[in-house]
Amino acid sequence: MISVDEVCAKLRTEGRRVTPQRRVIVQVLLEDGAHLTADHVLKAARCELPDISPATVYNTLHELAALGIVQELDLGLGLEERLYDIDTGEHDHLVCLRCGRVEDVPRRNGVASSLREDHDFDIVDRRVIYLGYCPDCAGDRESM
Ligand SMILES: [Zn+2]
Ligand SMILES: [Zn+2]
Repeated sequence: MISVDEVCAKLRTEGRRVTPQRRVIVQVLLEDGAHLTADHVLKAARCELPDISPATVYNTLHELAALGIVQELDLGLGLEERLYDIDTGEHDHLVCLRCGRVEDVPRRNGVASSLREDHDFDIVDRRVIYLGYCPDCAGDRESM
């Protein structure tokens, strides 16, 4: 797992300033686990820096995503439901529509190569989110 110092060093090499606010945001992303909403990051960051503004949190998360330090997962459920994942290794996500549980799953290969062949398209990246119901919620749905 990458450390706060490593992320800050990366920000500096990209020519960004490492402010106390940015440092705290990175720390929250690393310590609170994967798949956090901006709101979660804001609340956790406020424990350290009570004056940190929502705009600072949103802007920093976007910046980290643009630099490839976090993955931004857009579930198609609105801005507030976007999730930030410090694990940028290749993996896909299962998201439960009912309880919001997010599970990392290994990337299935094969799809990209067949798309590449069929459409002559040079694929460099992809973001796959499978929406559905986790075992707990699927059970509840049947009994409803
Ligand atoms: Zn669920
Ligand atoms: Zn993930």
